[in-house]
Amino acid sequence: MATVTKEVPDARAPEGIWSTIFSYHPFEPVLARAEGIYLYDEDGKEYIDASGGPIAVNLAHGDPRIAETVAKQMEKYSYCHPVLSNRPRAELCEKLAEVMPPHMNATYLVSGGSEAVETAMKIARQYHVMKGNTGKYKIISNHDSYHGMTLSALAVSGNPATQRYFEPMLQNWPKVHQYSPFRKPGDMDQKAWALECAAELEEAIHYAGPQTVAAYLATPVGAGSDYGVVAPPEYWQAVREICDRNDVLLIDDEVVTGFGRTGKWFAIEHHGIKADIMIMGKGISSLYAPLGAVAVSDEINEPFTQGAHFVHGFTNGGHPVACAIGSTVLDIIKEDGLVENAAKVGDYLQANCARVTDHTTVREIRGAGLLRVAEIVKSKETLGFFDPDAHAEHKLQAIALKNGLAFYATLYGSRRGPALNRGLPLFIAPPLCITREQVDDLLDRLDQTLTEWEKELGV
Ligand code: PLP
Repeated sequence: MATVTKEVPDARAPEGIWSTIFSYHPFEPVLARAEGIYLYDEDGKEYIDASGGPIAVNLAHGDPRIAETVAKQMEKYSYCHPVLSNRPRAELCEKLAEVMPPHMNATYLVSGGSEAVETAMKIARQYHVMKGNTGKYKIISNHDSYHGMTLSALAVSGNPATQRYFEPMLQNWPKVHQYSPFRKPGDMDQKAWALECAAELEEAIHYAGPQTVAAYLATPVGAGSDYGVVAPPEYWQAVREICDRNDVLLIDDEVVTGFGRTGKWFAIEHHGIKADIMIMGKGISSLYAPLGAVAVSDEINEPFTQGAHFVHGFTNGGHPVACAIGSTVLDIIKEDGLVENAAKVGDYLQANCARVTDHTTVREIRGAGLLRVAEIVKSKETLGFFDPDAHAEHKLQAIALKNGLAFYATLYGSRRGPALNRGLPLFIAPPLCITREQVDDLLDRLDQTLTEWEKELGV
C-alpha cells in the first residue's frame, strides 16, 4: 500500500518482475480486480476510479454483458480473414451511425486514439488530393493540446515536454492558441474575445498559405492548461466559418469527450456546428478492448464511394472481438441511460463541490457532464504549480491512493513551464454510471486528500 512518508521517486522504481517491462513505472498498489466505479488491489483495498482510467472508462468495470459478448464472439470466430467480410465490423459502424451527428454515416475502425488521429490526417490529405487540391497537406492544431504519441499525433500535439527527443522527426506545422477565458483582457466582453481567439486561426491559415492547409484539428473541450474549458458557441461558429472560407477541413478529436462523457454523445453537440471528420477512441470500448474510429461526413465520404480506395489499413483494424465489444458498449450506454446520467450527475458534482473549491490550492472546478477538471495551483493568489523538487504531483497521487482515490497522473502539471503560471489539471472523470452518493464520497475523499497534501507541503 502506498505510504506518504516513503520517498516518492523510489515508490515508482521498477523492481522484480516489473523490471522486464520496457520503461514501465509501476505504482505500489497492484490491481487485482475492478467492479462498478471501484478498483481493488491485491490487499483488497478499494479505490474509486476517479478519472475513469485515463478519462476513458465510461461503463462500469466488470459489466457481465461485455464478458458474455466476448465469449459469444470468440465461440464463433476471433479473427476474420481479410478476403472475407467481417459482420461485427459492419454492425458496429451501423450502430455508430445511429449515435453520431446525422451528417456522419461512415466510419473507419482502428485500435486506439493515436492511430485514429493518424488516420484522420491521412483521410483529410487524400480527400483534398482526390478533389484536385494537391497542395493541401498542412494540419493546423493547438498549443498545449494532446493528440497521442505516434510521430504524427505528437507533431500535432502542442506540448514541448512530450516532443523533446523527437522534435527533429516531427512535421513542424502551425499551432494556434485554443480558446481560453484566462487570457482574456479584463475589459473585453466574452463574445468579442471568443471571436478574437478564432481569428488567430484565420491568421495562421493566411501565413501558412490557404492552398497548403488541409485541416484544423482540435478537441471540442479545452486541453492542457485549459483542460475542461468549454468555449462559447460563437468561438466554434467562427472556427467553422473560417474553415469553410479557406477550404480547410475541421477535424474534431473526441477521443476523450465522446460516448457521453460530457453529457452528450459527442461534445461537439454543445457547440451546434458540424465537423468534417471525427476522431474516436477510449470510451468507444470503455477500454474493454483496444478500439478507435474515424468518422467522415457524407461530403468527405463521397469521393471514396466512387471507387477510390483509402490507402490505409492495420492488421488489427476492425478486430471482430473489439467490434463486438464496441457494439455492446453502445447498447449499454443507451440501455443504462449513461449519457443522461453523466449530464445530471455532472451538474450535481459541479453544484456540490464547494468543499473542494474552498481549498486555497484549487483555482476552480470546470467542465461538462462527467468531464470535470480541478485546476490545482500553489495558491489561488499566486496560481502556478509547485517546483518539481517538491514532488507535489506525486505526493498528491500517493495521498489520494491512501484515501482510496485513483487519479490519472497528468503529463502536464508539474512539468509545465512556469511561463504559463497555470496549475495541474486533476481529472474528475469517473465511470458514467456513478451515483450522487458516490460523487459525495469522491468529493469527501478529495477534500481530505487536499487537506493532508497541503499540510505536507506546508501550504
Ligand atoms: N486524442 C486525445 C484528445 C487524447 O486525449 C488522446 C489520449 O489521451 C489521444 C488522442 C490518443 O489516444 P491513445 O492514447 O488511445 O493513442
